[in-house]
Amino acid sequence: MSEPRVPGSREASFELPCGESIDVRDLDMGMREFDCSCGECHAIVTDVHPPGRFLPESLVAILRETIDTRSGDELDTMHLLGMVVEEFPEQVASKDVSENGSVGYALVWVSTFDSRRLHEVVVELVVELMEHAISHAEDDEAVSSFEEQMLDFDVSEFVTQYRRERDFQGPADRAI
Ligand SMILES: [Zn+2]
Repeated sequence: MSEPRVPGSREASFELPCGESIDVRDLDMGMREFDCSCGECHAIVTDVHPPGRFLPESLVAILRETIDTRSGDELDTMHLLGMVVEEFPEQVASKDVSENGSVGYALVWVSTFDSRRLHEVVVELVVELMEHAISHAEDDEAVSSFEEQMLDFDVSEFVTQYRRERDFQGPADRAI
């Protein structure tokens, strides 16, 4: 069903999980989080952000080899956020802005979590995903080696280090 197009108004309003609404045209791809008028800081992710925002590229490559996505597409940021939405449907809102050509991305997610907490959630879910995948592996040695590595893995520490190394607080990543 086609709706009449009202330039600039139809696609722009985005209702956030906290109940506030924003204009998607106020968001840009360089943003990682923003201070909402509800008083919280919300993480923002768009489909053009690479999965390397959350995970090392080497791990992304392993995931792409081992994880079958439902759609058959290569695992991407969209799938990572899909996992978050599945686990925390009340905490994440998404909007398809593909018809709003001016913003530069097609999908945007905003979570009630701030950027760091969202990062931890993504890593926790990926670890769970890998545990699940490895538990189906035939190779017992691979399973126990993975489980051993996971015993030492600290999500919070990983996220702290990763964000420091990848400079997510750099000049391109200022909250607006
Ligand atoms: Zn809010």
